[in-house]
Amino acid sequence: MSKILVINSGSSSIKYKLYDRDDWRVLASGSVMRIGEPASEIHSEWLDGRGEHYSSRSTTPIATHADGMDRILLALAGQLINTPPPHEMTEEEIDHLLQALKDGEALAEAAELAAVGHRVVHGGEAFHLPTLVDDDVIEAIRHMSPLAPLHNPANLDGILVARELFPGIPHVAVFDTAFHQTMPRTAYRYAIPDYLYREHWVRRYGFHGTSHHYVAKRAAHMLGKPLEQCNLITLHLGNGASATAIRDGASVDTSMGMTPLEGLVMGTRCGDLDPAIHFYLSKHLGLDNDTLDDLLNRQSGLLGLCGVNDMREIQRKAQQGDEAAELAIGVTCHRLKKYIGAYYAELGRVDAIVFTGGIGENDAETRARSCAGLERLGIELDPQANTRPHDQLTDLERDIATAASPVRLLVIPTDEELEIARQAFEAVAGADGSSSVSS
Ligand code: ADP
Repeated sequence: MSKILVINSGSSSIKYKLYDRDDWRVLASGSVMRIGEPASEIHSEWLDGRGEHYSSRSTTPIATHADGMDRILLALAGQLINTPPPHEMTEEEIDHLLQALKDGEALAEAAELAAVGHRVVHGGEAFHLPTLVDDDVIEAIRHMSPLAPLHNPANLDGILVARELFPGIPHVAVFDTAFHQTMPRTAYRYAIPDYLYREHWVRRYGFHGTSHHYVAKRAAHMLGKPLEQCNLITLHLGNGASATAIRDGASVDTSMGMTPLEGLVMGTRCGDLDPAIHFYLSKHLGLDNDTLDDLLNRQSGLLGLCGVNDMREIQRKAQQGDEAAELAIGVTCHRLKKYIGAYYAELGRVDAIVFTGGIGENDAETRARSCAGLERLGIELDPQANTRPHDQLTDLERDIATAASPVRLLVIPTDEELEIARQAFEAVAGADGSSSVSS
């Protein structure tokens, strides 16, 4: 068995990647986006046996996650056993092929799957490692759904459908929260009455764990020492954003909390906020909980400050003198710098600060402004290295600190799917012999 399939099933999308586990090459990938909308988008890419690259895009209504998984099954069948693409078949032919795929072993055999890795957003306190999925694990993920009402049910949909499609293959759940389960109590408890933690699970969990873990391992490789000896501040800056303090390779603090709303300024989320603002808005503007949820999760952050949530456009506007755009960048970088300072104080010694995610990997200005004035802490950015165009193939992971800077500043593209694939594979290998799987 030489391949690993990774499935990331979100609230309105399913993404997948098929890896060759010998060299972790991506053999096939794709997505079904906008599930439940009139025009769902299906995209797939694959390599044929000779390494030729193919890609296809189509638009068709996909009502449910089960229908979305069917489309992924058809795409995989097209890639692995050369069935015709769905847009060349009638609905009847599609139904017939799907039934044959579900009844037979042809696809499972062609896929040569060693494991299917599933992204699961919330593992609560129960899961601190990748975990082989069985009925108890499914129940536990369902049990945790109140903590992530948009994500866990969608993740579960993906697991349930994939288990039916690939019944004889180990399925592994990889949790966004797992990497942060090493946080000490002093970092994860809120200063609110004890029973809220004991009886209602109110504590900080943190997210983006798979990404923070992946870039931490790559950073250790770049620093030339074992991860267990590295102290790092990792900054995942995408549409969602979080910072993590890593001591001796383990997460000891992270900026997202019980939900992904806490912490840094994000595309549409406010990040840190005085909780009394909630009461104020409720009392004075009469906003109810659903409206407040939407306001703080989907109308705030960069979007709230300047009307746009795409950092590329915000930078363009700021360069043209748009004051709101300039303020949005300023607030974002101010918050980032506060977290860098706080985590520096927590760690005492920092080997490297790592930038990742769409903004962290690409936006030189955010990197420069969040490190500006921190030279006394040994954080010295090299402006030329920071802005130098980099080669997409050879120079993706790069060090942008001055030669003399005691703290290295690393830009490392994240790859959450690859990390899920590796962890799923290790979990399966561990389940055979040693014990890298637990719940
Ligand atoms: P997601 O959390 O949805 O995976 P990404 O990690 O793709 O998000 O990050 C999206 C953000 O990255 C957007 O704000 C986008 O504008 C920003 N981004 C992507 N490329 C660049 C770039 N070249 N310069 C500045 N920002 C960029």
